[in-house]
Amino acid sequence: MPTYEYVCVKCGEQFVRIMSLKDYEAGQVACPKCNAAEVKQQMSHFIPKTSRKS
Ligand SMILES: [Zn+2]
Repeated sequence: MPTYEYVCVKCGEQFVRIMSLKDYEAGQVACPKCNAAEVKQQMSHFIPKTSRKS
C-alpha cells in the first residue's frame, strides 16, 4: 500500500500513514501526537515541483 506523509498544523508533528486508496479518500487522518484533525499532506513524493496545469 502507498504511504502518505503528513505534518500536523497544530503541533508540527510529522508522521507517515500507510493506507489503502479507499482509506485515503475517506480523508480521516489525525495527528498521532495531539490528535488534531488539522493536518497537511506532504506532497513531495507525489507531485513534481515543476508540474503545471495542462
Ligand atoms: Zn499534532
